Amino acid sequence: MSILHDGYFTQGLDADPELAAAIRGELARQQDGIELIASENIVSKLVLEAQGSVMTNKTVEGFAYARYYGGAQFADAVEALAIARAKALFGCRFVNVQAHSGSNANNGVFLGLLKPGDTILSMKTAAGGHISHGHPATLTGRDYAIVHYGVSRETERVDLDEVRALARAHRPRMIVAGGSAYAWTLDFAGFRAVADEVGAYLMVDMAHFAGLVAAGLYPHPFPHAHVVTTTTNKSLRGARGAMALWNDEALSDGINYGIFPGVQGSVMLHIVAAKAACFGEALKPEFKAYNAAALENAQALAETLAGRGMRLVAGGTNTSLMLVDLVNQGVTGDIAATALEAAGIAVNKNLIPFDTCPPEAPSGLRLSSSAGTTRGFGPAEFRQVGDWIVRAIAARDDAAALAAIHDDVRALCRRFPIYDAA
Ligand SMILES: *Cc1c(COP(=O)(O)O)cnc(C)c1O
Repeated sequence: MSILHDGYFTQGLDADPELAAAIRGELARQQDGIELIASENIVSKLVLEAQGSVMTNKTVEGFAYARYYGGAQFADAVEALAIARAKALFGCRFVNVQAHSGSNANNGVFLGLLKPGDTILSMKTAAGGHISHGHPATLTGRDYAIVHYGVSRETERVDLDEVRALARAHRPRMIVAGGSAYAWTLDFAGFRAVADEVGAYLMVDMAHFAGLVAAGLYPHPFPHAHVVTTTTNKSLRGARGAMALWNDEALSDGINYGIFPGVQGSVMLHIVAAKAACFGEALKPEFKAYNAAALENAQALAETLAGRGMRLVAGGTNTSLMLVDLVNQGVTGDIAATALEAAGIAVNKNLIPFDTCPPEAPSGLRLSSSAGTTRGFGPAEFRQVGDWIVRAIAARDDAAALAAIHDDVRALCRRFPIYDAA
């Protein structure tokens, strides 16, 4: 072997100390901190290994058993496995597992099923919608006419009468149900009735609740949705990525070609391998137990916060995520999130419905039980976390108090270790 390649195939991260320091720092941060960010979870060693596998070396374009390049035998096996498992998991006929991210899945579906200028009716960002559903800063916002529904002022939940009235007035080609910061289950049959009335497709973006759907703990988007998109890295607890699912073969070309070559090129096969690993895990009974625990833990956290005077948007949650309204605490989400980070608790600031503050300094925080449940926290730990959240926000200007909470957070985390010690 050439001296130029000494160690090339055998040395790991140790060959790059600068990079290794950052990655090991992140591992330590995850090990010693409490993760409440709803778009995160903690993947298994199996998923990590699949994602870090030699599949990254292989280039394929097209679909399993119909490629443009040779040598695709194992690539095809990996993609076919991911698809078969996803179909079994969600009980549908067709799946595209290639989308690199949730935004790409949505862009691909829109590109495949809509024409430029068509109208999309989707949830407002401040009500919990995702930016890839038509925010003006995204391609979807540029290429389509976007109309948004919100939530009712009174209940802070989706009001299908509003959705229906907007659909009748604007005749969308696509209605999108699902968001990133909406704590309650959605009525997919009701959405479909509205879509049918105006001749629109119904797309359900289940990014945040896909794991609950897979576990049978959230209303199923099928048979109501024409197409479902989801990320795989949130409640599904898998590799960072996404997919699209549907039942009507007449939509297959549109969706598949919308994703490739519409918005993406070659497949990230190592990620597809990790998706297959994740779906295999999600098909096991343990995954249902995990999601049931995540729901129970979210209730414990929500009840603790509400019991300590924190207002929960829409009266709480029946999923694994919740939105806290900080207006009565006299603090905005950015400042609260910074204080919590100093206390070893990761959350994200979030707009709340009818927020009078800007997205950079919004009135809310979004919290989720997904990652904490993965590391083994139960209701007692989540009640403790709720107590720390209240104390840290109150002590936001007291660095010593925040550091003291961080010590307690670290001690709790060490009782629930993740991955091997660094
Ligand atoms: C997280 C999320 C996405 C997109 O995810 P990226 O992978 O970050 O592009 C799309 N839709 C919803 C509802 C989400 O919550």
